[in-house]
Amino acid sequence: MKSEKENFKYQSEKFADIEILRYQVPGFEELTLKEKKLAYYLYEAALSGRDILYDQHYKHNLKIRKTLEAIVKSYSGDRDSDEFKKFIIYTKRVWFSNGIHHHYSTKKILPEISTEYFRQLISNSDQKLFPVEENETINQFIEKLTPLIFFPNIDSQRVNLNPNTDVIKSSAGNFYEGLSQKEVEEYYKKVVDKNNPTPISYGLNSKLVKENGKIIEKRWKAEGMYSPAIERIIYWLEKAVSVAENEIQKSTLLKLAEFYKTGDLKLFDEYNILWLQDTDSRVDTVNGFIEVYSDPLGYRGSFEGIVSIKDLEATKRMKAISDQAQWFENNSPIDEKFKKKNVIGVTAKAITVVVESGDSSPSTPIGINLPNATWIREKYGSKSVNLGNIVLAYDLSEPEELKKEFSYSDYEIDLANKYEAIADTLHTDLHEVIGHGSGKIMPGVGAPKQTLKNYASTIEETRADLVALYYLLDEKLIEIGIMPSIEAAKAEYNKYIRKGLMIQLARIEIGDNLEESHMRNRQLISKWAYEHGKDEKIIERKIKNGKTYFVINDYQKLRKLFGELLKEVQRITSTGDFEAAKNLVEAYGVKIELELHKEVKERYDKLGIPPYKGFINPVLNPVYENEKIIDVKIKYPDDFTEQMMFYAEKYSFLLSSS
Ligand code: ZN
Repeated sequence: MKSEKENFKYQSEKFADIEILRYQVPGFEELTLKEKKLAYYLYEAALSGRDILYDQHYKHNLKIRKTLEAIVKSYSGDRDSDEFKKFIIYTKRVWFSNGIHHHYSTKKILPEISTEYFRQLISNSDQKLFPVEENETINQFIEKLTPLIFFPNIDSQRVNLNPNTDVIKSSAGNFYEGLSQKEVEEYYKKVVDKNNPTPISYGLNSKLVKENGKIIEKRWKAEGMYSPAIERIIYWLEKAVSVAENEIQKSTLLKLAEFYKTGDLKLFDEYNILWLQDTDSRVDTVNGFIEVYSDPLGYRGSFEGIVSIKDLEATKRMKAISDQAQWFENNSPIDEKFKKKNVIGVTAKAITVVVESGDSSPSTPIGINLPNATWIREKYGSKSVNLGNIVLAYDLSEPEELKKEFSYSDYEIDLANKYEAIADTLHTDLHEVIGHGSGKIMPGVGAPKQTLKNYASTIEETRADLVALYYLLDEKLIEIGIMPSIEAAKAEYNKYIRKGLMIQLARIEIGDNLEESHMRNRQLISKWAYEHGKDEKIIERKIKNGKTYFVINDYQKLRKLFGELLKEVQRITSTGDFEAAKNLVEAYGVKIELELHKEVKERYDKLGIPPYKGFINPVLNPVYENEKIIDVKIKYPDDFTEQMMFYAEKYSFLLSSS
């Protein structure tokens, strides 16, 4: 039971509305040489596509980025001045968003420097480094770039979804040119075959343009648009094929390379089907044009690359729980008639990310569920994975001040520092592996989605959380070797109550209710337990220096309360009792106490915690002997600017789109 915390520093820096974090890749050193080589080749394939996303986001992004990078690299003036610092912040924001539009709002980011200072920056930098076109003077270059960067009304939003506008014309993204929304819609009415049960993902890998009155698709493929980057991707994928772990992985990677060569979307479907069948490989990748959120009409996929290794530690821990699934079911506080006689623990999968690129970096998802094609999902299923080391990094980077602000005593803070990481992981494992899988629905009662309707998912999450909370305080977890001490469970109880009754409110606007089902379930459980243990002060509401705290006085009694609520929630689920579900959720999970809400927001705001986070990636370095790779070393850089400049140096395969 090693503490994952060790001495790794998860936080790097903060700027604008962003915090930059780092993550570790436990398990990488233990890979075989062949697996390391595979991971390394896929890592290069992922990073090789990095420029594509910049260009997809906006056709001037690469030119602007290269200009900013030339200044970062060669500016000879004062680098300590406030203005230069503002320039650096702007540049970092562009890197973070893979372009000049905010990664989340997609609105244009405006630099806080003057156009005059921008001109000075360029004049005092190495002129050879700027992407000036032939026959263009540096002055003309500056004249052309300035409005694109500084004028708020030019290309002001990357993705405009406002239904009252032409979403194609008003979006600055580089997926369409010379076309109106109507023309695009008509084009796809003609092209899409509605009767085909296995349709390709139309438009996923091309830019749609009107040239000389004709609509054509410029495909992203070898010898097509983005060819220099795509050829690098193919090169590395083919290297990966040579060290594939098994036949199915080999065919999967070959198919992906073939797709990039031809741009044939049928091959992409075939690739996805193969990829779904590869469940044994230790090393895995997502590489392609995947999510379509950046296209206002949802056709075109943003480039994304993720390389991961299977988390064996997590798999082992999950198996230890899964092996005891029947014991957990038999000992559950729920009614005997709702218990499963033959319970099979679900094996949820966790992966450890090695590198992320394009659409998933620096801002990253914490879970992925692919492929996206509906007919493939229906026929072949999907892979659903948690990005374990990313989630852990989020958890461990949670600022000390946040815990301090909402914890009543030093004892609570100590417990949190010691056990929160492991306790959090255990909670998630119990929730996934035995929580969702436990209990049964009575014969003749439909699935919760039908019976409990809009309350179904809150009730289901409540049930899974309660199973986890109930068993966290059980000696059984120590006995099967997955929990170091009962103190760990107490740390998780404290955190749950702190978050459920207070901290999570910081994300909600004053006057709004809780809507999201996980947030509802957290408050439901915490508030119900608080109210039902009020007489005995099981959870006590205390005021210190004018601040509110919720303190757990008796963990065993709180566990009993969780058991009682679990019993009721299981009854609701098993019998499909809609009225009871509604009453429970509405009474405890929806409304927020206004005064407390205001207080929480005020205390949270004072901590200055940025709303968006992203990551610096690890770096893989092959070690050569006689031109052969004999090892791959992993390093964890700690400077965001350095990483971005390193990527620019090594992976700038595109300048601007053709
Ligand atoms: Zn769940």
